[in-house]
Amino acid sequence: MRFASLGSGSEGNAWLVESKTTRLMVDCGFSVNEVIRRMARLELQAEDLTAILVTHEHSDHMSGVARLAKRFNIPVYASFGTLSFCRDDFPSQLSTELFSDSPVVIGDIQVNPFLVPHDAREPLQFVFDDHRHRLGIVTDVGHVTQHMLASLSHLDALAIESNHDEQMLVQGRYPQHLKARVKGEFGHLSNDQAVSLLQQLNPEQLTNVVAAHLSQHNNKPEIVEELFMAVIKEKKRFAIATQEEGLDWVML
Ligand SMILES: [Zn+2]
Ligand SMILES: [Zn+2]
Repeated sequence: MRFASLGSGSEGNAWLVESKTTRLMVDCGFSVNEVIRRMARLELQAEDLTAILVTHEHSDHMSGVARLAKRFNIPVYASFGTLSFCRDDFPSQLSTELFSDSPVVIGDIQVNPFLVPHDAREPLQFVFDDHRHRLGIVTDVGHVTQHMLASLSHLDALAIESNHDEQMLVQGRYPQHLKARVKGEFGHLSNDQAVSLLQQLNPEQLTNVVAAHLSQHNNKPEIVEELFMAVIKEKKRFAIATQEEGLDWVML
């Protein structure tokens, strides 16, 4: 299995998870043209996608899903709450409902969805299992729950939201209500929360850790790297998925 990001952050998100026969996109917060352009960097075409999984309905994750799915006839998997937001945007035969803790098999990848605390209707995040490796991708989470920790056990690789530096957020220019939303229990994970999650997951067993969904206003890659490296130790096991460049293929 290998994975990559087409871009990560509040301006748009999309991940790719690929096994021998199956190519999944997770979220699509970019226009069709932008997705095609970004996929070309990874030597892929939109026609190659087996399915699109959607975590939740926020536009940085879903704005491009319906158009991409319709144009290339790609099945879409999401929770009832997420699908209810876009039900009229594409034919119902293209959509499949996901339930928290009910794994689905797509091609040769087993996808384990689990519910997370975030201010969306029914937000899910995913663990991918190709029977050789387990990869977790988790962004847009307000706080770490016991359910999340249990869902993320025995991973080989983890992409985790490291949204903001708490001090930069408090002292920054965001209006008060937005600061409260980001910090809140249904907002986004701070750097400290992300690192604390990592520490609870036996980080020495993770061959690859990716920090994702970094705020462009309330965070700095240098801060994230320093905090993560204190836990991960080896530079070759760590990377940051950025808004513009995303992240090149990571092999598991
Ligand atoms: Zn987001
Ligand atoms: Zn969100």
